[in-house]
Amino acid sequence: MQIDIVSVFPEYFDVTGLSLLGKAQEKGLVTIRAHNLRDWTHDVHHSVDDTPVGGGAGMVMKPEVWGQCLDDLLGMPDGPTQQQPPSGQTANTADVNGQKEAMKRSGEKSDGTAAEADSPADSYKAGAAGPVLIFPNPSAPLFTQADATALSRAKRLIFGCGRYEGYDARIPDYYRNQGVDVREYSIGDYVLNGGEVAVSVMLEAITRLLPGFMGNPESIVQESYTGDEPLLEYRQYTRPTTWRGMTVPAILTSGDHGKVDRFRRDEAIKRTSRIRPDLIARLDCPTLDKHDRRLL
Ligand code: SAM
Repeated sequence: MQIDIVSVFPEYFDVTGLSLLGKAQEKGLVTIRAHNLRDWTHDVHHSVDDTPVGGGAGMVMKPEVWGQCLDDLLGMPDGPTQQQPPSGQTANTADVNGQKEAMKRSGEKSDGTAAEADSPADSYKAGAAGPVLIFPNPSAPLFTQADATALSRAKRLIFGCGRYEGYDARIPDYYRNQGVDVREYSIGDYVLNGGEVAVSVMLEAITRLLPGFMGNPESIVQESYTGDEPLLEYRQYTRPTTWRGMTVPAILTSGDHGKVDRFRRDEAIKRTSRIRPDLIARLDCPTLDKHDRRLL
């Protein structure tokens, strides 16, 4: 998977070299490149924002700068705003040019879509090469584990981090109209200063699902929000079995795997029903047996 992130603070993503995500990059499972949006500005102040049309507080991110940046990253040579970043940003330009070459070699069209697919959305659904353009936005639908799972099958993701009062609404609309698979997601019902933290959250949720990312692939099978029955996970314990007078549930040390499974499922259903009744309400009824229902 190839991931490009555009931000006015690309340093936020230096930490992606750490821990499991760093190892995944070493193993070649994922390539992450953070770009500075200001590299696509042409004025002396490298400005990326302007006052809101219609008035109001704060600043809004300008469509022209985003347009030039995203045209380049998406390899849209006919984009009406297509221009190279100004001199002095050779690293990014080289990256983008290298990427265009790589796309040619891999049989992608110049807009990044797979040659055999009718549209980026089709190719993405098929787990093929269509890039997905993602903007974090507090007023968008909530990003879920199901989204992370679906996006982990894409070959290329491009994240655009908003700042200030957000980005000009025409930016996602424009690329949607160009046939790009554009997503906007909120990571929760609160407002952050910028999209960097939101992108970090989505990035981690998506990449940990890449085949080969986890040492033990089983560890992502039975997790909260995961699978056909997205319940909260049961409570977990480790040794010692008694700690400060508190003992783990005896059934977990019984060695009876059937009983342990049943106990954990009961826990998961009871906890989900108490903490996240909305998840239970969305569950497909046939997956709950009579025993399960008695717990609700
Ligand atoms: N004026 C916007 C509003 O009230 O909806 C808030 C803009 S926020 C200060 C700046 C940027 O942070 C957004 O464009 C978005 O990229 C990011 N952001 C803030 N909160 C977020 C959230 N809960 N989920 C995803 N992105 C968020």
